Amino acid sequence: MTQRSIIHVDMDAFFAAVEELDNPELRGRAVVVGGLGPRGVVSTANYIARRSGVHSAMPMGQARRLCPQAVYIAPRGARYREVSARVFEQFHAITPLVEGLSLDEAFLDVSASLRLFGGFEDIARKLKADIRRETGLTASVGMAHNKFLAKLASDAQKPDGFVHVPADGVQDFLDPMPIVRLWGIGKKTQPRLKALGLLTIGQFRRVDASLVRPVLGNRTEHYLRLAQGLDEREVEPSRPDKSISHEVTFDQDIRDPGELLAELQHQSDRVARRLRKAHLLARTVSIKLRDSQFRTATRSKSMIAGSNSSSTIYRMARALFETWRKEHRNTPVRLLGVGTSNFEDEDEPGHAPPSRDQRLDGVLDGIRDRFGEDGIAHGQAMRRKR
Ligand SMILES: [Mg+2]
Repeated sequence: MTQRSIIHVDMDAFFAAVEELDNPELRGRAVVVGGLGPRGVVSTANYIARRSGVHSAMPMGQARRLCPQAVYIAPRGARYREVSARVFEQFHAITPLVEGLSLDEAFLDVSASLRLFGGFEDIARKLKADIRRETGLTASVGMAHNKFLAKLASDAQKPDGFVHVPADGVQDFLDPMPIVRLWGIGKKTQPRLKALGLLTIGQFRRVDASLVRPVLGNRTEHYLRLAQGLDEREVEPSRPDKSISHEVTFDQDIRDPGELLAELQHQSDRVARRLRKAHLLARTVSIKLRDSQFRTATRSKSMIAGSNSSSTIYRMARALFETWRKEHRNTPVRLLGVGTSNFEDEDEPGHAPPSRDQRLDGVLDGIRDRFGEDGIAHGQAMRRKR
């Protein structure tokens, strides 16, 4: 088997760092970027704010109580995307095998670039230097022979980190880490493993599979492999999707809300399934409606935590649809669509373990992969006429 060389690059406190770059007066102060409204949450806190306990996804009110002296700034998405594009240009100068996970984070497979640029660590050093020169910002890099280890490595020494996990150093690196660092082990599973006396990846790695199977079910072997530092997933460069959606124009306009909801559920399921295939979670769900007069309406709503569960996407889409329908009773619908955007990576450490809904989704996906799209459907979507 050929050994891969994978680098995970993660910009340090990216949104906050861009704000500091654009406004030098902020340097040396606590900076928190996030929604400033009553229900806002923290997108990024710089390292000074983190010392007060502020972290991303925290409600803004809580952040303000913990760190009242911080400067609070609303996100400037367009500016972050501009800087992100410059960062990604540096990646693509090294290798075409770039898998972007978000604006400030990517996996690079540099296996084929080693000779050209000198070596694994030389490439990572060059990347950090290029990013710094082109944007004025620091990045943390992790190097390893697979994605799982490279990602943990980039996180091990933030900010401005530079960590290489060599093939013969995997257990030394992993064993002392808490179990939650295994992708997919979340806040619900961790206490149950703790109750078995398992706190670290090293303890977990040595355990007999039968002991943890009641907790981890058919994911047991997967987690035990991760604990040994094994991960076969390739860097997948084709991740340009900014949104995943599905829409249909009806042959005849539809007025019956039951029929429209059935269609909506079918589309939600299609979209959720594509998200699951891409290992993405969407934070924003939207619907699109066009009436018989060709008037188009779009409605969208965001969640704090992303999802790719068919039932969650449908619940959101249905709520948006019901709101629209209150104002448009009996309006014949010509086109209906469901869209998702604002993606995050499903494999990010700390995401909850699969819920009952997600396990059901997995079973249905498997059946449809084997028997085709019409093999089986969630509840209402069965009523769909077309
Ligand atoms: Mg980052």
